[in-house]
Amino acid sequence: MSSQKTLFITGGSRGIGAATARLAAVAGYDVGITYATNAAAAAVIVNGIEALGRRAMAIPCDTSDPQQIKQAFAAFDAHFGRLDAFFNNAGILGAAARFVDIPVTQLTAVLAVNTTGAFVAAQEAVRRMSTRTGGAGGAIVNMSSIAAKLGGAFEATDYAFSKGGIDTLTVGLAKEVAAEGIRVNAVRPGLIYTDIHESTGIAGRVDKLKANVPMQRGGTAEEVAEAVVWLLSDKASYITGTLVDVAGGRGL
Ligand code: NAP
Repeated sequence: MSSQKTLFITGGSRGIGAATARLAAVAGYDVGITYATNAAAAAVIVNGIEALGRRAMAIPCDTSDPQQIKQAFAAFDAHFGRLDAFFNNAGILGAAARFVDIPVTQLTAVLAVNTTGAFVAAQEAVRRMSTRTGGAGGAIVNMSSIAAKLGGAFEATDYAFSKGGIDTLTVGLAKEVAAEGIRVNAVRPGLIYTDIHESTGIAGRVDKLKANVPMQRGGTAEEVAEAVVWLLSDKASYITGTLVDVAGGRGL
């Protein structure tokens, strides 16, 4: 087995997952990423990691399907042979709507990826990492959102609801596996410049809302990646069950 540390990222083809994949490769990890449909974007990230001299792999996976999650982890195992760190990142944002106008189909789709998918993916990571089942320990970072704290009123209560589950999962899972060599934390980004906002139907959403951010600007995917890579690293060795806001003061 290689002694090289590995990181697995769901939703690593674009946005925050892609930025984290690049930064982690610079930090010395071999990196596996999943993507939902955008194989071309995933290939660009893989090529960039390989150019840094690290191993990389892109795996298709719709995380709303638990079977695909299991298959993706199996593909990761076959390629890398060990799992040290997991960034539970894949997520979607629905069309903006008032609470009463959010279709149940949208609520179900958002929960399937953001909450159930993340829960199932964390189970797969724990099965591999836990010293209770013969693993070597590891670190997990879950992707929440400052929306979990703010509530998403008037446009994204479905999304905020889905991320509230991530905060709860992070605390409960952290306690359950702390004595099994696994640290579990979450990041709660604020308004970050990525493609995810396009699905709301609000053009230029980050710029329209940034006046509400104490720092008066949106954040970058790279700024979130810095927090994720740090939380995954041994530099955060005594930190577990923590929700780290990367939000320019939004939510204070
Ligand atoms: P993004 O740029 O839209 O990237 C989304 C990533 O998730 C892509 O790699 C995409 O793959 C993948 N993905 C989409 N649907 C999927 C599905 N059904 N199953 C598996 N993977 C899927 O989004 P982002 O802003 O980086 O968001 C990443 C995470 O950060 C999400 O959980 C989001 O909720 C969270 N977040 C974002 C912000 C923000 O302001 N951007 C703030 C707080 C939290 P393809 O490339 O194949 O589509």
